[in-house]
Amino acid sequence: MTTELEIGLYIFMLAGFLGYHVISRVPPLLHTPLMSATNAMSGISLVGSLLVAGSRHGPLSTAFGFVAVACSSTNVVGGFLITDRMLRMFKKAPSPRPETEGARASRLRRAALPALTFLILCLLLLVYLSEDARRYLRTADFTPVLKYFYILSAALFILGLKGLSSPKYARKGMFLAEFGMLMAVVGTLFHHEIVTYQWIIGGLTIGAVVGASMGWWIPMTAVPQRTALSHSLGALAATLVGIAEYHRHSELGKVLTTAIGFEVLIGGLTFTGSLMAAGKLQELLPGRPITYRGQNAMSLSLLAVVACCLIVLIVAPSTSSAFYLMVGLALLFGFLLVIPIGAADMPVVISLLNSYAGLADASMGFVLMNKIQIITGSLDGTSGFLLSLLMCRAMNRSAVNVLFGAFGKMAPEEGQAAAQSRGTVRSIAPDEVPALLDGARSVIIVPGYGMAVARAQHGVSELASMLVKRGINVKYAIHPVAGRMPGHMNVLLAEANVPYDQLYEMEQINPYFAEADMAIVVGANDVTNPAAKNNKNSPLYGMPILEVERAQSIIVLKRSLNPGFAGVDNELYYNPKCMMLFGDAKESLNKLFGALKS
Ligand code: NAP
Repeated sequence: MTTELEIGLYIFMLAGFLGYHVISRVPPLLHTPLMSATNAMSGISLVGSLLVAGSRHGPLSTAFGFVAVACSSTNVVGGFLITDRMLRMFKKAPSPRPETEGARASRLRRAALPALTFLILCLLLLVYLSEDARRYLRTADFTPVLKYFYILSAALFILGLKGLSSPKYARKGMFLAEFGMLMAVVGTLFHHEIVTYQWIIGGLTIGAVVGASMGWWIPMTAVPQRTALSHSLGALAATLVGIAEYHRHSELGKVLTTAIGFEVLIGGLTFTGSLMAAGKLQELLPGRPITYRGQNAMSLSLLAVVACCLIVLIVAPSTSSAFYLMVGLALLFGFLLVIPIGAADMPVVISLLNSYAGLADASMGFVLMNKIQIITGSLDGTSGFLLSLLMCRAMNRSAVNVLFGAFGKMAPEEGQAAAQSRGTVRSIAPDEVPALLDGARSVIIVPGYGMAVARAQHGVSELASMLVKRGINVKYAIHPVAGRMPGHMNVLLAEANVPYDQLYEMEQINPYFAEADMAIVVGANDVTNPAAKNNKNSPLYGMPILEVERAQSIIVLKRSLNPGFAGVDNELYYNPKCMMLFGDAKESLNKLFGALKS
């Protein structure tokens, strides 16, 4: 056991380093697909869940295994489907060249993969239905072969993540990862511990139906809450498998108890924390931070009690009261961890919970001594941690500030006073804009969270097409934390058929603003606020921004002068070059089209 643990820890560590190396090469353009891809891969908890659901260890194990299979397969199916949906949207500007033979063949190969998958599943079903085959499968030992299946799956997952380093190879990479998942799952079905299949088939069917519905129909604007929900499902699967394993072993060694302890602790808090995050993002729960006196002290004390329970458990593994108390408190801790955080900070929280879900998955791998789960859990954990760090860095905030800062609260009078001292704001009507565009040669469009709220991405793309028809060069400026998810704007614009080679990252686009005749800001606020550069007292000070104020003229589409996520008044609106086109972004764009057409 100790050698196994040692090997497991080496694998965990090396997979983390490899994951860091591969994932840090994923461009911000693909950060949202990266989140859902790692989420789908973390559905590898399905492997452990299948073992628990399929081996007759008692009704509790089977029931928990069944729920875990349903949760994990929801993540696998839903995660891969939505990732593919997103990646299909990322297109380059169309090339006038006709499709080559090679491209046609590769398109056919891609189309053949789902068909092949389906075929394999049908064959498996046939094998399952044949009595002779079942008898043979029960007696044969596939464990040595299974190891190689897992090794190959791990390699395919890494290649899948590597593919995300460019939109060109991202889909191909994801096909490899999907194939890796299929191999791991199908291989596990032949594991000698699995002796019954009815609960597995039930769980897989439920998971496939729920996952497919989520993957196909959830709108792109709801991706953040879907991701949070998937983390909670993955964490629930880990927690249930942990409880089932604890319950079934009459005697547990210290190593196994520690692994189970970590699995249920991290799984439990991730489950409730992610559910809260999804509720806040879906506006089912109040989005504002809910704070009370002594909150941090209360959370820390709770954490201390949980840690004590874990220590008691490690010292005396059979103390089941400590185990169940720890599960209950971990669930409560996840809830308390997220309620004081505002909805706007949820993306960082989701990323952190992604990382925790990966750790819970890896712990499950240690419990079942399943190396593919250790590798995937480590990859998922690294990805979530890295994305959280990138987000915090782009916002110029620390993770501690996000988790305990209740950010975004500014006294209204303070904002008002600041606004009044800055001078006047000019507004503009839609029919005045065409005159400003006469003679313009270059326009930069700056999308932000308001574009997502107004679902104005198609309008933005249409506006760009109209401007291009007028002979204007159009570029899109994408801030790394515009919107509410890393890469949020990229996905929405891709959905509106904007070729990704027209999207410029902040460092690339900033030098172009001085040459631009006009910057059109659609629902972006904080990411354009010059206070981040000029005002040392501003909470935004130090955050890198899009240098919109350097354009010859600026038009801002938003409904009011209200601040954005950071709760800070925007100095840009008082710039004499800036004109406010007040109203919902989608409606304003519609009016603008009318004016441009006439
Ligand atoms: P923002 O600063 O939050 O501003 C969005 C603006 O959109 C608001 O000022 C709002 O003004 C406007 N708006 C809302 N609904 C609208 C509608 N229907 N039509 C037109 N305008 C509408 O957004 P941002 O500039 O994209 O900046 C993102 C912020 O989120 C940053 O502070 C960033 O640090 C934070 N954040 C981002 C991430 C991430 O990963 N992307 C993660 C965590 C935090 P009105 O109410 O006046 O319309």
